[in-house]
Amino acid sequence: SVEPTISITVVGASGDLAKKKIFPALFALFYEDCLPKHFTIYGYARSKMTDEELREMISGTLTCRIDKRENCGDKMDQFLQRCFYNSGLYNSEENFSELDRKLKEKEVGRLANRLFYLSIPPNIFVDAVKYASSRASSASGWTRVIVEKPFGRDSDSSGELTRSFKQYLTEEQIFRIDHYLGKELVENLSVLRFSNLVFEPLWSRNYIRNVQLIFSEDFGTEGRGGYFDNYGIIRDIMQNHLLQILALFAMETPVTLDAEDIRNEKVKVLRSMRQLTLDNVIVGQYKGHTRGSKSYPAYTDDPTVPNNSLTPTFAALAIFIDNARWDGVPFLMKAGKALHTKGAEIRVQFRHVPGNLYKQNFGADLDKATNELVIRVQPDEGIYLKINNKVPGLGMRLDRSDLNLLYKARYTKEIPDAYETLLLDAIEGEHRLFIRSDELVAAWSLFTPLLKELEEKKIAPELYPYGSRGPVGAHYLAAKHNIRWGDLSDDS
Ligand code: NAP
Repeated sequence: SVEPTISITVVGASGDLAKKKIFPALFALFYEDCLPKHFTIYGYARSKMTDEELREMISGTLTCRIDKRENCGDKMDQFLQRCFYNSGLYNSEENFSELDRKLKEKEVGRLANRLFYLSIPPNIFVDAVKYASSRASSASGWTRVIVEKPFGRDSDSSGELTRSFKQYLTEEQIFRIDHYLGKELVENLSVLRFSNLVFEPLWSRNYIRNVQLIFSEDFGTEGRGGYFDNYGIIRDIMQNHLLQILALFAMETPVTLDAEDIRNEKVKVLRSMRQLTLDNVIVGQYKGHTRGSKSYPAYTDDPTVPNNSLTPTFAALAIFIDNARWDGVPFLMKAGKALHTKGAEIRVQFRHVPGNLYKQNFGADLDKATNELVIRVQPDEGIYLKINNKVPGLGMRLDRSDLNLLYKARYTKEIPDAYETLLLDAIEGEHRLFIRSDELVAAWSLFTPLLKELEEKKIAPELYPYGSRGPVGAHYLAAKHNIRWGDLSDDS
């Protein structure tokens, strides 16, 4: 039988994401022997480059993991020898036909599979899909396309994008990437929940008081606000990354671990979410701040951002899921730039112990005694459960402590980057961690009316100082639901 080969074309190869993430991830897969035996990598973009120049460009970004330093240089050379470049326009039949000819030369005598990675701005997605599929699809094997966000900016534009894609590709061929789904701790969420008896039975309104999904960055747009200003933090982080985590967290048990079974459950829970309303949302924007001798700029000081921009760089909101499992449980989301800390985490706050025998040992604040499960997605990946414990010794004093799984203490192997996991899945045709079009429809129907209302009513964001904990409004929002935000920097 004919041996297969795979041609991977990075469209937009001269860009930031390609350099920072895609080529390094491909090399890491090669190093781990995860790429098929026969493969060729092509860079495609308008910039003029020779094969050698492309190799030069990417060689600077490839790294070997600490535990894999042996032969690193040799491996890089072998990898780079299989990388080539084709300069072309994104809307040119001729240029994609030229790429097709070059790919065929390398594929000769084998079953050819082709993977295109669209790492380009959204305004050229459709052209690139059109010409890649009509001029450079494989004649003998499969052709798949990985697409980066943003998938539109509201229900209409996203629907339009999906319709355009489907003129040229089937759903099976499309891999919409949300790189949060490739993160180790997000993938582990289902393992934690469904393979441990002690979690799944508690996973409902009966035991969980609230769930918090928190994303923070400790820097602002730093001169790259042009793209961001058109989207804002809700579209950039919440509608996709945090909502995807929430869907995985809250979905019912899937029939199997097959992609379609998991995604069916995600769609169901997304569709059970109650429409978001302004009284459950607060938006913020960072303002300049001077600390000691150092000054930090406001969002609107960014030269790529209009001076009067109302775009939120921070948002907090409460989502309710109107189904039997989650009735009445607030899911709080918070995301912001230029905050005092950086990280992404899921915090599950449990209910009070009914008739707690040790009530008097906790003083007035029983909230301080509730269990909390924290899943830290990044950095310092870990899972810990806050429990109450007797302080050893005479007398009865209670103490909060953590049952703690800190990944770097437990596992010596470095955690692969999300892009490695996702690229490997796309190569293997595994859709589990990619967004299906009906998930996208459900995600946008949840957020579009809210975004429209914020924009039409020109809701002014509450200003918060660069490097702070964000606007006070976020605390009022939580307090309205009797909740206190958990905070990484406050954990022991
Ligand atoms: P980028 O650097 O702005 O663009 C990638 C390449 O596309 C550029 O090198 C350029 O190549 C071409 N290009 C840029 N603007 C163009 C235009 N107006 N018309 C035609 N071609 C243009 O983008 P990126 O940061 O690599 O991101 C790629 C995609 O991933 C985007 O959809 C982005 O939203 C998404 N994304 C990026 C990140 C990130 O960390 N950067 C994270 C998540 C998602 P040539 O001029 O050589 O053709």
